[in-house]
Amino acid sequence: MLNDCLFCAILGGEIPSSKVYEDEYVLAFRDINPQAPVHVLVVPKKHISCALEIDGENSLYVAKCFEAIAKIAKAEGLEKGFRVVNNCGADGGQSVMHLHFHLIGGEKFAEKII
Ligand code: AMP
Ligand code: ZN
Repeated sequence: MLNDCLFCAILGGEIPSSKVYEDEYVLAFRDINPQAPVHVLVVPKKHISCALEIDGENSLYVAKCFEAIAKIAKAEGLEKGFRVVNNCGADGGQSVMHLHFHLIGGEKFAEKII
């Protein structure tokens, strides 16, 4: 856990969240400002500040995030599809410096980002 990290505080239970999934490696909870009918944040239970910090020591946490995404997507009824978004760093628009993946779905996205 890291001082002054919002998601570490949520992982530590100091700040409440609307939990949708949890295992040994991952906590997932609803985004406080949803951008789609389903908007879940999938957060590793280890402070990795951003995607630039993923390495051989911590990549199991990233793999577990994507295993969780598959489970949550099914549980949330997103079999028709969804998006997974990671914002990294200032230019990527990251506002919370603890690695997380946005799982968004529940509507057909008209605009292709990529
Ligand atoms: P990012 O901009 O990619 O770093 O995403 C951070 C996300 O965290 C934003 O979508 C915020 O709406 C969300 N967020 C901020 N505070 C909370 C909170 N207390 N509980 C749930 N989501 C939050
Ligand atoms: Zn953290």
